[in-house]
Amino acid sequence: IERTFSIIKPNAVAQNVIGEIERRFEQAGLTIIAMKMLKLTREEAEGFYAEHKGKPFFAGLIDFMTSGPMIVQVLEGENAIHHNRELMGATDPAKAAPGTIRADFGSHEQVSANAVHGSDSPISAAREIRYFFTEDELF
Ligand code: ATP
Ligand code: MG
Repeated sequence: IERTFSIIKPNAVAQNVIGEIERRFEQAGLTIIAMKMLKLTREEAEGFYAEHKGKPFFAGLIDFMTSGPMIVQVLEGENAIHHNRELMGATDPAKAAPGTIRADFGSHEQVSANAVHGSDSPISAAREIRYFFTEDELF
């Protein structure tokens, strides 16, 4: 059993598809063991995306991630990190496979507004979970 960190990004929250996205995770056998809604400060967003600092899309990504409320959550299940990334699809919604969350709910004009985030390794999952949750908030 593995844990991964997930974000339902501001564009998906604004589109009223939180329930539809959570349904996909639950249907796929991923259990939500922690969740909250919050609006990031620039400092919080920059810290979360520190590995991308200096890239051409960084400022736009921070603008977008601080533009409105989002859902941060922890998903648990068999092979959760890889399983979640399969459900999400490719980074660019225009290139994501049909039926994936990013293809269905991501922006085809703006890559940063790709509806969801998911950790890419056990090390980033641990870091990202700790960034938003304390141990007693995980069920
Ligand atoms: P995530 O880390 O959000 O799960 P990812 O691992 O598929 O997505 P990364 O390369 O880690 O993608 O990029 C982090 C985020 O930065 C992406 O989810 C996307 O929102 C944004 N991003 C990545 N590449 C671009 C780009 N070329 N233009 C605009 N935004 C981008
Ligand atoms: Mg990534």
